[in-house]
Amino acid sequence: MSINIPRGTKDILPGEVEKWQLIEQKAKEVSARFNYKEIRTPIFEHTDLFQRGVGDSTDIVQKEMYTFNDRGDRSLTLRPEGTAPVTRSYVENKMFGLPGQPVKLFYIQPMFRYERPQAGRYRQFVQFGIEAMGSADPAIDAEVISLAMTVYQELGLKKLRLVLNTLGDAESRKSHKEALIAHFEPRIDEFCSDCQNRLLKNPLRILDCKKDRDHELMKSAPSILEHLNEESKTYFEEVKTSLDAMKIDYVIDPTLVRGLDYYNHTAFEIMSEAEGFGAITTLSGGGRYNGLVEDLGGPATPSIGFAMSLERLLLALEAEGITLETEEEIDCYVVALGDEAKRKSVAILSQLRQAGIKSDKDYLDKKMKAQFKAADRFKAKFVAILGEEELSKGIINVKNMDSGEQSEVALEKLSTFLKQGK
Ligand code: ATP
Ligand code: MG
Repeated sequence: MSINIPRGTKDILPGEVEKWQLIEQKAKEVSARFNYKEIRTPIFEHTDLFQRGVGDSTDIVQKEMYTFNDRGDRSLTLRPEGTAPVTRSYVENKMFGLPGQPVKLFYIQPMFRYERPQAGRYRQFVQFGIEAMGSADPAIDAEVISLAMTVYQELGLKKLRLVLNTLGDAESRKSHKEALIAHFEPRIDEFCSDCQNRLLKNPLRILDCKKDRDHELMKSAPSILEHLNEESKTYFEEVKTSLDAMKIDYVIDPTLVRGLDYYNHTAFEIMSEAEGFGAITTLSGGGRYNGLVEDLGGPATPSIGFAMSLERLLLALEAEGITLETEEEIDCYVVALGDEAKRKSVAILSQLRQAGIKSDKDYLDKKMKAQFKAADRFKAKFVAILGEEELSKGIINVKNMDSGEQSEVALEKLSTFLKQGK
């Protein structure tokens, strides 16, 4: 009996993996350009970290975590998101004391959530995320948004929509929260049990409910924008001014709230507007989380970040019909005829590889014709043929597969010759 892959996961095979390498490369390169440094955290953490850092009332903590006890009876959880672990590491490694502030970090790491799998929703997925920690300058909110947009745009995406909102500061949120409770309470029995639980704990999250999104009270719900105090209003205005300065378009949606509990001020999502993208159109989400570092035992540290999954990025590229140029061809395939040539080809291949030339040879004892076929399949730019005669003359016959041109090259000059032709 064969064993299949677990539900909601997938293998990324050669042919597909090159696309992943390319978008990872782009994410790393853009991060470096914006002066963000990579951080890698463990795949599992103490369960408490997510309960405290993501929030008890969130879907992630309530329903989606892969939690298990290890053999020492500690409760551990496979990382469902990146911000809590990065914040833990920031506090643990006292990054608040580093000379270069704010601390600007990025990660590309697998995440695990027990969700109902569908297109764009998996149980293991890879997130590219950014955290800028230690600045309350609205310009850095705009920088973080611009970084995400740059990655998408430079990969060729055009049908993007940046949706922006503010959740205000603690005071604004308190006033908004009261208004929301007053709004929903009289008819809360018409809402799902999740929403009923959220009402007093975190009524903002009712607005994020997928089941009750069409209820009439949703549309008439009080907007955060009416409850912003002066400071929060000014903050939001300045984020918009910085986005305008960078010529980044956005639409304001006062109903946009993020699934995680720790956000305040800026919240944003980037959506794909490509036709045929499917039901899930959010490519990335992020926002400001000024209280989290303190909640996890560090000093007050205003921070902002986002996360995007590479799976949804690839789906968006596909929906827009963008094909990534991945390099598949090899530089040279060595065809060897006869036992001695075969032996010699081992040394030749080794030299080519040390010289940085992408090359290969036959290992299946194939006839000449089949070796040429293999060279073709690997899209070799050159085929180097070594037979008895070439061996005795100390040369090798090199065929340029584009032009068909053939040259006799001294064995010791082969790598130089190929490098010129590359
Ligand atoms: P959704 O509303 O789609 O469940 P979310 O609010 O749970 O999203 P976040 O926790 O903010 O999403 O994660 C940020 C990004 O990670 C999302 O915008 C999306 O690109 C991606 N993402 C989230 N969950 C999954 C998943 N199960 N599979 C693939 N990508 C995901
Ligand atoms: Mg989710």
